[in-house]
Amino acid sequence: MLSGKRLQRSKIAEYIVSLKPEMTIIGSTKRDKTVAGLVAGALRVPIIPEVIELYGNKAKRIVYSGMAIAELEFTLPIVITVSKKNVEVKANNNCKIIKVDLPRNKKVRILEEKHKEGGNIDLSSAQIIVSVGRGIGSKENIKYAEELAKALGGTLGGSRPVTAELGWLPEDRQIGLSGQKVKPKLYIALGISGQPQHLAGIKDAKVIVAVNKDKNTPIVDNADYTIIGDVLEFCKIFTEKVRNK
Ligand SMILES: Cc1cc2nc3c(=O)[nH]c(=O)nc-3n(C[C@H](O)[C@H](O)[C@H](O)COP(=O)(O)OP(=O)(O)OC[C@H]3O[C@@H](n4cnc5c(N)ncnc54)[C@H](O)[C@@H]3O)c2cc1C
Repeated sequence: MLSGKRLQRSKIAEYIVSLKPEMTIIGSTKRDKTVAGLVAGALRVPIIPEVIELYGNKAKRIVYSGMAIAELEFTLPIVITVSKKNVEVKANNNCKIIKVDLPRNKKVRILEEKHKEGGNIDLSSAQIIVSVGRGIGSKENIKYAEELAKALGGTLGGSRPVTAELGWLPEDRQIGLSGQKVKPKLYIALGISGQPQHLAGIKDAKVIVAVNKDKNTPIVDNADYTIIGDVLEFCKIFTEKVRNK
């Protein structure tokens, strides 16, 4: 007999299977991946994990630890897991949202529900992004970037180390291959080295300004303007200048 989490996962999978879907798209939390495996197994269909882009019958996914992107052609039916942990589902003419009652884990009693701070930030429509990399130095220093973003009327973003690894910014602020793709008019990269996985998320930015102490770091070759110097010093001086304008 199954209990707790496993029972929930198999119930979700059973429900999906009962719909006989042509395409099943699931997120990439641990629970999602288990459900995806169960659905693919029960339907006897292939599974493509960690997809970053989906169009028609083609899917792109990161391979070789992020060194390459594979483009795969598939036929239906198929199960796909998408690389973002939290997938936002929006209802439209082709898609309706169905709520399913699942058995509760009797050992867990919910006393209070608190929603994650920040929610899911959509950076794709931001016009000005001030983006923070490991070069900012510490979580405490994020406030300098935040003040600059506020003075410019922009939004804060970050590299993967700063968001997913060090937790200096929420994960939904991550920009890049496995984060959000952005297309702002102005992208200010503060202490970001500009590895291919980060550049993949900013290729549609109109103007890129890089602030870095190392003139040989890759972002310099990809920026329209470069300031070689200390990122905190830049933030303080530039914020003041913008405020006085
Ligand atoms: C499968 C996979 C997916 C990935 N997806 C993403 C993704 O979506 N987004 C992403 O960003 N990364 C992603 N990465 C990670 C990526 O490879 C890099 O490790 C990451 O982008 C580096 O982040 P960073 O530039 O903040 O840090 P670093 O590479 O450590 O760069 C820090 C920079 O700060 C500069 N610096 C240091 N101190 C100062 C200072 N005081 N003043 C000015 N400059 C300073 C340094 O010169 C350096 O250039 C992924 C990796 C893999 C394997």
